[in-house]
Amino acid sequence: KSSVHRICSGQVIVDLSTTIKELVENSLDAQATSIEVRLKNHGLELIEVIDNGIGIPGQNYEFLALKHHTSKLSCFEDLTAIESFGFRGEALSSLCALSKLTVITSTEEQAPSGRKLEYDANGRLAKTIPTARERGTTVIVQRLFESLPVRQKEFKRNVKREFAKALTLLQAYGIISEDVKITCTNQTGRSERITILTTSGNKSIRENFANIFGAKQLPQVMAIDFQLNTESERLTMVDAIERDDNSQMEAVIQVISKVFNEVYKTYNSNQLPFVVADIRLAKSRYDVNVSPDKRTIFVHDEKKIVDVMKNQLIKAFEPFRS
Ligand code: ADP
Ligand code: MG
Repeated sequence: KSSVHRICSGQVIVDLSTTIKELVENSLDAQATSIEVRLKNHGLELIEVIDNGIGIPGQNYEFLALKHHTSKLSCFEDLTAIESFGFRGEALSSLCALSKLTVITSTEEQAPSGRKLEYDANGRLAKTIPTARERGTTVIVQRLFESLPVRQKEFKRNVKREFAKALTLLQAYGIISEDVKITCTNQTGRSERITILTTSGNKSIRENFANIFGAKQLPQVMAIDFQLNTESERLTMVDAIERDDNSQMEAVIQVISKVFNEVYKTYNSNQLPFVVADIRLAKSRYDVNVSPDKRTIFVHDEKKIVDVMKNQLIKAFEPFRS
């Protein structure tokens, strides 16, 4: 009856990068094709995520930031067929408790007028102000962790590291999000706003990769199709891009699973191409309801998938065997 209990709850907002992750995922869930992450003082003062997604309809204003409010699940059965990133309704409510949260939003019908919504620490709608806004949503997080002085101190002390971690995450989203333009800018003090990261918004995963890492050329691109013989599932499009040794590409390795490392280990790694994996599975095959941040997911028949990947990878890397 109450699906709330059956959705394991936990903290989704633990630092700058989880904050940005939740907001960017909300924008992706809202079908945005343009997402801008604007920071002030590397997020210490302000984190603003501006999208051109579907916006928030008026009937949701009041509930948006309440704990476990989500517009993305209609029944418990949906938990086995999750297509959106979010489904727990925890991010905005947590952010209310940890910062000052403001939302500016407009739907197709409302644009070019919209609403500015201010929420209190309990996630209750405190103020609604008419404002101009094109279709989309802006979520503004001011003074993150202000309500947790010890945590805020730690954030201040580690801000550069937390910022770097957030960038790694945005790079990963920038790579996998085809047809979505992702930008990140920062302004420190009164100095000029600087663009940290930007993707073109109408390109393939491969080109996003080049955009983000500034690969001088995209030579020797390898497209490997991972065929799973039973259903029509595929582990599609694994692009291999020549390794550019001096870059920070290492950061993205995170998205590559153990199996890749296993295969890599058996070669002289300098000669191997870089691999970006985009794995798409039937909804029935995986369960994301394992940990709140979805960093752990359960995959049915995992061993079989891993075996397929491993074999395909070994085959694709055959030319590099010296
Ligand atoms: P969840 O993503 O798990 O549903 P959140 O707390 O992240 O929970 O968001 C709560 C709700 O606010 C979402 O279900 C959605 O309806 C709305 N929302 C949040 N961000 C956006 C956005 N950028 N565009 C449209 N709707 C949004
Ligand atoms: Mg969410």
